[in-house]
Amino acid sequence: MPDVDDTVERWLSEYAAPDANVATLLCDRHDPDAVAFRFVDEDLAGSTLTYGELGDRSRRLATGLADRGVERGDRVAVLMSKRPELVVALLALWRLGAVHVPLFTAFAGGAIRLRVESAQTRLVLTEPEQRAKLDALEGVDVLETGPDVDRLVGDSAPWTTSEAVGGDGAFLQLYTSGTTGKPKGVVVPVRALAAFQTYLHYGLDVRAEDVYWNAADPGWAYGLYYGVVAPMVGGRANLLSRGTFTPGSTAAVMQRFGVTNFAGAPTMYRAMSKAAAGPVPLRRASSAGEPLTPDVVEWGKTTFGVPIADHYGQTELGMVIGNHWHEDVARPIRAGSMGHPLPGFVAGAVDGQIAVDASASRLFWFEGYQDAPEKSAERFIEAGRWYLTGDAGRTDEDGYFFFTARDDDVILASGYRIGPFDVESVLVTHPAVVDVAVVGRPDPEGVRGEVVEAFVVTSAPPEAHDALARELQVLVRDTYSRHAYPRTVHFVDALPKTPSGKIQRFLLRRG
Ligand code: ATP
Ligand code: MG
Repeated sequence: MPDVDDTVERWLSEYAAPDANVATLLCDRHDPDAVAFRFVDEDLAGSTLTYGELGDRSRRLATGLADRGVERGDRVAVLMSKRPELVVALLALWRLGAVHVPLFTAFAGGAIRLRVESAQTRLVLTEPEQRAKLDALEGVDVLETGPDVDRLVGDSAPWTTSEAVGGDGAFLQLYTSGTTGKPKGVVVPVRALAAFQTYLHYGLDVRAEDVYWNAADPGWAYGLYYGVVAPMVGGRANLLSRGTFTPGSTAAVMQRFGVTNFAGAPTMYRAMSKAAAGPVPLRRASSAGEPLTPDVVEWGKTTFGVPIADHYGQTELGMVIGNHWHEDVARPIRAGSMGHPLPGFVAGAVDGQIAVDASASRLFWFEGYQDAPEKSAERFIEAGRWYLTGDAGRTDEDGYFFFTARDDDVILASGYRIGPFDVESVLVTHPAVVDVAVVGRPDPEGVRGEVVEAFVVTSAPPEAHDALARELQVLVRDTYSRHAYPRTVHFVDALPKTPSGKIQRFLLRRG
């Protein structure tokens, strides 16, 4: 059995090579008959795309794109749902050494403009369903799937050269989720592939015989890194489902396609648990992107027959800490902990924040935000040694990591530091609570610093709200802690969230 460090080192040396090309690494070196993607339509009909088919189509499209002027280093945005044309387009771009800028299909015009302009995108590839969102953009070339692209592909000879981009060359430029403010631009170099494969293999334990489904959208880091890029670098297959997410449809896709290894955000699991979806036996279940509340953990065990493993990462890092599944690195799960550093990363708690030791982490690749030197500088301390994540957390005596809250979300009330997540975990156990966010707001009496306030989406009728507010206060006081009980409970129709479903507590704090 090769040593874990040796394996990581081998990937790193391969993907950091000066002649590295993403399309070669993600597609051309794999068995052409192996399945690269399974696609599932709204009506649960399935189809597959092999590495061979993907290679052929993307070679032809690459020639067409080159004729249209796309060159190495160019930023090209792709606004498409999870269809074969999406992955063909990405590979075609990477053949030419161009840089993919993901655009989420749930975006409206403003979010698209922000990314297209800030990345200085030269071309946007899209589909008819999304085309109208691009009408307002000026000076940007647009190419739509359908007759346009078919002609381009049909008339073109396959592109045969492999552009040497190299380990430090860029292949993705994406934006953070915007949970704490304006999204920040992150450029991903080719050598990050080693980090992505390390997580696919050791963190998720995706094996050749698995039916793997990462249900996150490839418009975001989680879905792009681990639903598109990592499975391809590892020669595995992901399932891409075009249907809109509902708890029932998710369970139905799992059953119909025999999914064995599932990865999704806590909001997906929570929605499934509230709808009592399943049971669906799985070999592996993993979660990332937001804290995993204990109620979902409990529900997961009975529904999937395995625990949902909590994993932690960022757009800037990829996945770095986790309850890793692979037996070579797995350790017993400890309640409330998100686990240990991934091989290739060294992490710790520095100044109360989760931090990554950039100098000791072989797989660390982040070099700072695009066009935001001040924001970048805030992240690196001790002459660049430590990268601060902006998340408050701690480690225990055995090196298990615990997430407290985003640093900005920590509530300072009467001298206590309260993590909103702990309070939310209690409130969400109430059967009438559908969704909840807890924030600190300035104490109107000016004595406690901040006071805890809860924003609750409930299934209870308005006339029951007063009584429910009291019940919720008592619930926190009696089962968690007196100092953390919410002074005010606001009943709202929905919580402010990013398009990827993360709660934007900064908007609630503003009131
Ligand atoms: P922005 O940086 O624009 O405010 P964002 O931080 O949500 O948005 P992402 O990079 O998509 O953008 O998300 C990373 C963040 O998600 C982490 O810093 C952390 O706050 C949260 N997160 C990810 N995984 C977990 C987890 N397992 N438990 C708790 N929080 C998590
Ligand atoms: Mg962030």
